[in-house]
Amino acid sequence: MNFANLPQLVDMRGKLKSKGTYSKRTKAITHRVWHHSLTKKGLAGSDAASFAAYHVGTLGWPGIGYAFVIEPKNLIDTPNGKRARIVYANDINRRTYHVGNSNQFSLGICVAGDYRYDTMDEATIASIAELHAALVNDGIGKYDKAHNEMPGYSWKACCQYNYRNAFDWKGSKTPTKPAPAPDVYTIQEGDTLWSIAHKDGAGGVQVEDLIKANPGIDPTKLKIGQKINFGNAKVVIVQPDKKEDTKPSNSGDATVRSIQKTLNSRYETKLTVDGIPGPKTLTALVEGLQTELNKQYKSGLVVDGIYGRKTMASLPNLKKGAKGNITYILQAILYLKGYDPKGVDGIFGTGTEKAVKAFQEANHLTADGIAGRDTLSKLFA
Ligand SMILES: [Zn+2]
Repeated sequence: MNFANLPQLVDMRGKLKSKGTYSKRTKAITHRVWHHSLTKKGLAGSDAASFAAYHVGTLGWPGIGYAFVIEPKNLIDTPNGKRARIVYANDINRRTYHVGNSNQFSLGICVAGDYRYDTMDEATIASIAELHAALVNDGIGKYDKAHNEMPGYSWKACCQYNYRNAFDWKGSKTPTKPAPAPDVYTIQEGDTLWSIAHKDGAGGVQVEDLIKANPGIDPTKLKIGQKINFGNAKVVIVQPDKKEDTKPSNSGDATVRSIQKTLNSRYETKLTVDGIPGPKTLTALVEGLQTELNKQYKSGLVVDGIYGRKTMASLPNLKKGAKGNITYILQAILYLKGYDPKGVDGIFGTGTEKAVKAFQEANHLTADGIAGRDTLSKLFA
């Protein structure tokens, strides 16, 4: 293990505040996820011990949520010069809490500091670069992402420093470029362009890239088995599955059928896929919402399909630019209520904004196009 030999690394596994243990990973680490702590880097509380106390004492987690913490305020003299201390906080094989439903395959690395205001110093950049190079050498993870590049976290102001620039720091010897993304992807049940974008490798294929690389594609009409171009590939094929096309059309509304199928595959809701937006579909949507709130925000809700006060209190504000499964649920409920967002794809774009505004106007809410508690409560009521 190269990383364990870094001279600025201090092994504090088992020595930080904890209350139980994190379970072992059941999936290999594919993502190295970069965080900041939102605490000013020079403050007394800006270190691994304080984050552990907060995660355990306040949040009730089993231990600190990161595998590594880089501490700019604790400088270590190494043969290569001054370096920010790297605390090895949790064994890399532990599935710690830091990115909700992506924890299983994600390694959490936190650089202490609030990089909305702090600037990053040389000793910290060097530690990021050297830790990154060592992890790449050790084969730990394939892709690097900021916290807010992970599914469900686009709203989060983390990490606010340019981790990719840090990797290129002059002293670092990152041996390989990240693996390239696959060329072509085959659509599976429940896929949206958004979920596909996040299966990518190399520097992050974005939804916009996928749309550009697949001219003529309709993001709302992805078919199982359809192959789409992954953006960085030489291949330029978009071949809708002919068999799917010639299938006799099913009952009800096609978008409602697609929503029902997606809910069944994502949340095991066992809906009859009949294209009819009945009360069971609505209940299943609430179950999906509750499941997502538990996964993404640890809301601790009972998944009962009843839209109550506790569910309401856990809701984020959704606005243009939001992406992910909660946005998908918003679009689905809008569609079911007769406000077509022009695409139920998990991406809050202009169509969704217009649909939210129209719904708000019709319901005497402030028509700002932002789906907050009041709007969502009206939608689910
Ligand atoms: Zn974070």
